[in-house]
Amino acid sequence: MQVRIVGAGLSGAVMARELAQAGHRVTVTEARGHVAGNCHTERCAQTGVMEHRYGPHIFHTDDAGVWAYVNRFATFRPYRHQVRATHEGRVYALPVTLLTINQFFGTAMRPDEARAFVASQAETIAEPRNFEEQALSMVGSRLYAAFFEGYTRKQWGRDPRDLPAALLKRLPLRFNYDDNYFFHRFQGIPEAGYTAMVEAILDHPGIDVHLDAAFVPGDDPRADHLVWTGPLDAWFGHRLGRLGYRTLDFERFTTQGDWQGCAVMNHPDPEVPHTRITEHKHFAPWESHEGSVLYRETSREAGPDDIPYYPVRLAGEKALLAEYEALAAAETGVTFLGRLGTYRYLDMDVTIREALDAAGARLAG
Ligand code: UDP
Repeated sequence: MQVRIVGAGLSGAVMARELAQAGHRVTVTEARGHVAGNCHTERCAQTGVMEHRYGPHIFHTDDAGVWAYVNRFATFRPYRHQVRATHEGRVYALPVTLLTINQFFGTAMRPDEARAFVASQAETIAEPRNFEEQALSMVGSRLYAAFFEGYTRKQWGRDPRDLPAALLKRLPLRFNYDDNYFFHRFQGIPEAGYTAMVEAILDHPGIDVHLDAAFVPGDDPRADHLVWTGPLDAWFGHRLGRLGYRTLDFERFTTQGDWQGCAVMNHPDPEVPHTRITEHKHFAPWESHEGSVLYRETSREAGPDDIPYYPVRLAGEKALLAEYEALAAAETGVTFLGRLGTYRYLDMDVTIREALDAAGARLAG
């Protein structure tokens, strides 16, 4: 079978590899000048720091199969993601842990005391229907106002009452001093960067990769099958309207030494325009560099020419999405895959799992 894959991000690369290993001829077309999509990494020529060019990517998973898969293509270094937040001129631990609670309330509570205290602050909401209700029922109004409300308004450009409760479930709340940002069993960052990992996935005699290659939906009559990892609505020429995305602007700056002491500093206060500042040398704590590269990150609604980052899955988008999904289901010979192809907020491990499963289904079918 001759397969055309559009997009050389994680989805496209994993799909390409699986199909090529099964003996198919695969051509991958990528619009950008590099593979790896938004997890692309590149060393700064001046400082030597490995930069996460489209924002921070930390690999974390509970899926042992996916962990084994990525370790076939890259040497992963142990990495523990630590995030801090600056609120009204003070620095706090994130996610919200016993340390955050004690810092914020000026107390020295033990776990059970803090649990009871936070429960007394929290509002009783049987079934939180949105982000704000979820936060109020978890941590109460004071912690919500300090750490979640402003950040979420800036990140999503919307009232937290209009955002899904599930968004907050990405973040742990801990009544101990464990400040690891993720709860997964496996966590690491590839020593040579994500781009080298994706290049290794694509390095197979059955795969041809074309960079800087625009692909017009509907092209390529020679392929027996096409895998589309671009935006779902773009495949259909946006004919029903545009699915909304948030895009990010990075204000990059370099300095000497250690500027902020951690990989990510969140800035939840509404007066500060950016959401967070990332210092990229801290994503590779096994390396040592004199210089430092930082990105000040702001979020805004994506226009037609902006890079889509976060799908905005509100009621309006969900109705439109359902219409596009119906069109996609009626399409023959095309698989829609990945964050953009399915319009979902996907972590890297889930992206890989879904690509492996989609390849398995394709091969079985
Ligand atoms: N969030 C927040 N305050 C923070 C960090 C996150 O309110 O300091 C909320 C925000 O709505 C964000 C969501 O939690 O979109 C998920 O955060 P995560 O850190 O997982 O976002 P990502 O790194 O994927 O952008």
